[in-house]
Order: sequence, then structure tokens, then C-alpha cells
Amino acid sequence: MNLEQKTAAHPGKRRRKGRHAERGRQPTAQALREIAAVLDGAAPDRHLLLEYLHRIQDRYSGISAQHIAALAHHMRLSMAEIYEVASFYAHLDVHREDEEAPPPITVRVCDSLSCQLAGAEALFFDLSQTTPADVRVVRAPCMGRCDAAPVAEVGRNHIVRATSQAVGAAIAASETAPASVARASTQPDSDYGMYDDCMAGKRSAAKVIETLDSAGLRGLGGAGFPAARKWRFVLAEPKPRILAVNADEGEPGTFKDRHYLETEPRRVLEGALIAAWAIEAQDIYIYLRDEYPCLLEVLHHEIATLQASGRSLPRITVRRGAGAYICGEESAMLESIEGNRPLPRHRPPFPAQVGLFGRPTLAHNVETLYWIPHILEKGAAWFAGQGTNGCVGPRSYSVSGRVRLPGVKLAPAGITVRALIEEHCGGMQDGHTFAAYLPGGASGGILPARLCDIPLDFGQLEPHGAFIGSAAVIVLSDKDDMRAAALNLMRFFADESCGQCTPCRVGTEKAGALMKDGPWDASLLSDLGHVMRDASICGLGQAAPNVFETLMRYFPESTR
Ligand code: SF4
Repeated sequence: MNLEQKTAAHPGKRRRKGRHAERGRQPTAQALREIAAVLDGAAPDRHLLLEYLHRIQDRYSGISAQHIAALAHHMRLSMAEIYEVASFYAHLDVHREDEEAPPPITVRVCDSLSCQLAGAEALFFDLSQTTPADVRVVRAPCMGRCDAAPVAEVGRNHIVRATSQAVGAAIAASETAPASVARASTQPDSDYGMYDDCMAGKRSAAKVIETLDSAGLRGLGGAGFPAARKWRFVLAEPKPRILAVNADEGEPGTFKDRHYLETEPRRVLEGALIAAWAIEAQDIYIYLRDEYPCLLEVLHHEIATLQASGRSLPRITVRRGAGAYICGEESAMLESIEGNRPLPRHRPPFPAQVGLFGRPTLAHNVETLYWIPHILEKGAAWFAGQGTNGCVGPRSYSVSGRVRLPGVKLAPAGITVRALIEEHCGGMQDGHTFAAYLPGGASGGILPARLCDIPLDFGQLEPHGAFIGSAAVIVLSDKDDMRAAALNLMRFFADESCGQCTPCRVGTEKAGALMKDGPWDASLLSDLGHVMRDASICGLGQAAPNVFETLMRYFPESTR
């Protein structure tokens, strides 16, 4: 009997009445009504899955199995497709039917390295003991406020330089909304003059790209790829093209993009508009880190103002992340915007060829775009001439840890950490002697203080087993435990590994276990490092071994 005959003999078996009505959990009428309200009467859009999950989380402080079943029903997806996205993100609280919904207030205590140095562990312990029973206290990864550590979040309200008293007061007053951004810039923000010039034909796209080339502008999200070359790659691909703005800086220790979006959001938007104009993109997608809820309001306000100005603009769409470090990797970000589980893609094809929604996509981080109007206004020579020690351009270093004045430090690219600490950060904190530093956040390795005269720039630190990445400099002192610092970083990677490839998923866990107790097995860790570097799909798994490799190389005493 062939398939056709079988179907005829058992018509009920092959008839697909709508698989969602027949298989899996059946949503209750109430859940269906609630999700219909979440969808706001609009036809569901598959690409907005993450946004729908955010709306459920916002309304119900969590996402129940019933909500997932109802959303699957409305979107005509399987529950597994919804669940695999919802369960990926740290800020989405998925709970089963036999589990209680999370309490209305969650307190997150950042446990990344800068906050650990500033006493986050004691804060977490204290809050766990003292907060009311109906408030949940959990650990959380970096919140991008490392210059004001330790940081806690009450609901969506970030408490910087947090104490138990300050967190307790916010809980008691139900202050759970994000605080508005206080705009305090020493620079006047953009009036979109450079974009207007481009649109008026006073500049050609070719000339703009040539200027960026001469300036030596590179991608400042971490990879350092020359910006102009990226633009040319995208321009070589057929239209329609897209610009994707990566505002998801998640590298522990990095907070410069937040700084620029807080202080000069129009300058960033103008850079995006110029880039979109040059590559003839009709769409700009801005992917904003969910740890920056206050910036969502800023962006919506600035975009509405821009749209009301009567200028000719591409479509601008803002999408929220949901707490996943891997979404800073550009292909994972694209997957997240598309509403998929954000697993980094294999390359080729590169995003410039097959990017967002399958279209050629130019992806840039915030700081890269920020510099574009400046370069066009002041010239390529102005930008290129600002480096030192043979390096090119100004650089925004996010400095945290044991320095007196942490923060975003605008300094010449190629400055040494010694000069950065002494000339820009007011020196070390009282009672602390400079002992070590992370030049590129969690993934850039740990270097000893004796290597304090290496230029902090792309290509300079690699011979020492480190890299600059997004220029997140975390300074450690003689009071800090190097092994504990390394373990903190490896646990972060193990938590944030997307799990797609075995060398990273298993390797980060194994490395954490090997680094925890007793003397380290240097040979085993080295083997593990080789496998992770050679066989991981993306930068997370490839860079994670920097943590133990630099510790074994420069601080062998702490591994015994
Ligand atoms: Fe995912 Fe890690 Fe593999 Fe990257 S290296 S794709 S984070 S498992």
C-alpha cells in the first residue's frame, strides 16, 4: 500500500486539521485571550517572536507554559520553536506549570569581575538574607555599569555603587522602573548637518568611503575590521541592503556604547543614517542591549523627533535584546532580530553577503558609527592623527577595577595602560598597587603589570597572548586573587556559551572545573585550549582559553 492508498484507507490519520490544535499542550481559553491581547489584534509576525515574549514577560513577570502554548497556537508554530527562543535569554523567566511564577520583583546582582572586585559577593549574600520573601535575588552577568560597581537591578531599576540599604530602599518604595537618562555631555549633540549634506548631494558615497578609509576607522565593537572595506563589500552585493546597529555590548567591562547613546545619541543616529545612505539601505535595525532599558526611551524619542523633522529617512526599527552575551556576535544578533534562537552562523557566507532576512547587511557597533559624522566634519587627518605609539585614531577605553577614577576615557589609540591609569584615571585606589590588567574585557586575557608599556590597540597585544577587543580595561591590584578572577571569567563563558558546538559548550565547563580546585593540570588545560581555539564556531569559544593560558604564562604561582 503506497502513501496515497494508506491515506485513503485511514483518512483521519493523514488529515492535518492544524497540528497545533491536536498536538502537545492545549492552551486554556484564558491564556489564548491573554496572548491575543499581547498581540494587540495584529496578525502575528514570526520575526517579532522575541518582542512578543518581552511583552508577556513585562505584563506577567514571567512566561508560563500556558502562555507558550497560546503563543504557539496564535503564531502557528510548535511549542518547541517558542520554547527554544524563550529559554535562551537570561531576562525571560520561563516557568513550567508545576513551578510558581517568579515574584513581581527580582533583584539581580551583577557578578562580573568589576563588580566582584567591588564586593558583589558580599552584597548578594546580604541581600539573599535580608530581602522580603516575596522578592527574588539572583546573580546576573555584566550590566554595563562597571565604572560604578557593584551594580544591582531592582526590577529594571539599576542601583549603582549598590549597598544593601540602597537596594532595600528601592524595594520598599517599589522603584522598579528604569531611571531616565541624565544627558550630560561636554559635546553638543549632532544637528544631522553631515547627513543633510549627503542627502543634498554635497558629498558622494564614494568620497565618504574614501574619507573613512584615509581616517583608518575600524570596527570598534571588538573585531577591528576596516569600516570602509566592509562598506565596499556590502555595496558589491545586490539591493535591498540593510544596516544593523549592534548596541548589544556585553563584554564584561565594556560600557562605552552606553556612554555615547546616553550623551550623544543623535551623533550615533547620524552615523547610522550616513552609513545607510552610502550603502543605499532602506532599513536600519538597531539591536539594543536589554540591560539598557533607559536607552530604549532615548532612542524612541530621538527617532520620533527625527521622523517629525521632515527629512527623507530609511525605516528605523529598534529591537530589544533579552540578556544574552552571544548576541553581541554579529551573526547571533541577526538571528535574534529575526526572532530565532541566537546561534552564531557559520561563515561564509558573511553577513555582508547574506545577512539580516537573507539580505546583504552592514553591521556596525555604536562607537564606530559615532565617529563617522566627526570624521566627515573634521577630516580624515584629524582622526588619523590622534593615535600614539604608531596607532591610529582616538579610542574610548572603558576602564574599571582598582583605579581611582573609572569611566569611559577618550585617549589616543595605542596609549599604554600605565599612561591610561596615571593620566586618565587618577592613579590606583588608595592602598592598592597595580598588579595586572585585562586589556580587552573577559576574553582579552590577563596581563601582568610589568607589561604595562604595550600600546593598547589592535594587533599589539596578540604576541603576548591577549587582545584589545572592545577596549574594556579592568585593572587588578596586589589585593586581588588572580585565580579567583580567572575562575570568574571562565564561569561567565560557561554560562554564556550558546551550546551550539561541543568544544565551547563542554570546554568552558571543563576548564572551569579544572581551574577550581588544587593545582592546575597545565598539559590538560593546554590541550583543551587548542581544541577550543581550533574547533569552536565563534569568538566566544575561541577566546575563552585566553583566560587560563595567560594565567599559566604570567601568574604560574596562582595555578599551583
Ligand atoms: Fe556557541 Fe560557543 Fe560555539 Fe560560539 S563557540 S557558537 S558561543 S558554542
